[in-house]
Amino acid sequence: MNQVIPIHAKESLGCSDTPVLVEKGQREVFCGLTGIIWLHRKIQDAFFLVVGSRTCAHLIQSAAGVMIFAEPRFGTAIIDERDLAGLADCNDELDRVVRQLLARRPDIKLLFLVGSCPSEVIKLDLSRAAQRLSNEYLHAVRVLNYSGSGIETTFTQGEDACLASLVPGLQQSTASTLRLMVVGTLADVVEDQLRLVLGAMGIAQVDFFPPRRSTAMPPIAASTRAQVDFFPPRRSTAMPPIGASTRFLLAQPFLADTAKALQSRGAVHLGAPYPLGAEGTTAWLQAAAQAFGISQERFEEATRAPRLRAEQALSRHRPLLQGKKIFFFPDSQLEIPLARFLSRELQMELSEVGTPYLHRQHMAHELELLPRTTQLSEGQDVERQLDRCIAAQPDMVVCGLGLANPLEAQGFTTKWSIELVFTPIQGYEQAGDLAGLFSRPLTRRLKLAA
Ligand code: SF4
Repeated sequence: MNQVIPIHAKESLGCSDTPVLVEKGQREVFCGLTGIIWLHRKIQDAFFLVVGSRTCAHLIQSAAGVMIFAEPRFGTAIIDERDLAGLADCNDELDRVVRQLLARRPDIKLLFLVGSCPSEVIKLDLSRAAQRLSNEYLHAVRVLNYSGSGIETTFTQGEDACLASLVPGLQQSTASTLRLMVVGTLADVVEDQLRLVLGAMGIAQVDFFPPRRSTAMPPIAASTRAQVDFFPPRRSTAMPPIGASTRFLLAQPFLADTAKALQSRGAVHLGAPYPLGAEGTTAWLQAAAQAFGISQERFEEATRAPRLRAEQALSRHRPLLQGKKIFFFPDSQLEIPLARFLSRELQMELSEVGTPYLHRQHMAHELELLPRTTQLSEGQDVERQLDRCIAAQPDMVVCGLGLANPLEAQGFTTKWSIELVFTPIQGYEQAGDLAGLFSRPLTRRLKLAA
């Protein structure tokens, strides 16, 4: 039996107008530097130079420890005590570090200067530094800047700031034919799968942002060209064009600034739930189908088989998850789409769903699908939220690393929210894996208790 509630059976606009608990106390969230860990894998000729302290260097090095085995594509220009005391010229020092780096690494085509708490505190103007260095390395390297500081950003907002910094450099498109842009970093395998489904629907003009296509591809035999065009390589030198004919879908829910920047260039946002689970992916693809005038028959034909596979994969996890109560601490901004997926496709019971920020417009389609009784919270006052969590006695808690260990010690089953950002979870083929991320910790706890 298909247990997914059809998308048109919305529960009288769900949580769209229910009260939200807004808190502005102490929060326990990683800073935006964390995004470098997945962004450096995606934009493969970019380098992320954090202008920060030894703490910042330690954070990204320990979070992405595997990179010590490879030539890393991120580093830290350390601001030391002399800089903080205003005794040295940080701009001279930064220019020296960049010169050294680019001399050693001519493969770098795009350099991000990433701001941090210390660079913000000493008011180092990184946009001017980026402009100065861009002029110096004209035609060789683009230098951009964004902030990953813990004062300004939570951990997924680093990606938003990074992508937003790329938008002004996108080429203006004057084309009249509609072109689809999928916005947000996705695993390569997910990108390939989505491209295939969109292609089967009849939408062949698809750009992913951050991009994969290179303008500097080596010559290839005509016989292999079609294949290469379909799965182009990843390079920052090939940013997609943008204009009034661009229709974009957000693949990640934490890209408010990027979306705003794209809209300011004329692109039109296609509102939809996010592509998590069978239902979410179908609704997300349907938004594109509607915008591109794809018939319902063709849409059904293109999506039927992968959708069925996703529903079957989910049915294996449902018996364990249904009726279990889940509590979300605010962390990644993925919480609301995840809660929708878990409640509608796996029949989990939502206790509290916390999000660092609630962007009502980008979440409108998700909120409509949440049960009306869901307690939503925005921002954090960590002690009060811990009290509510303990009182609710959920079967599972989704939270940051800092809260997981103490909660596990108290007997709660936890899921690290950061894992949900690192793991490929979008699209039909990942629906079962996504459910598995929630069923596995419960299975482990049951085994330990046996
Ligand atoms: Fe810590 Fe701020 Fe550096 Fe992030 S940017 S590691 S919060 S000092």
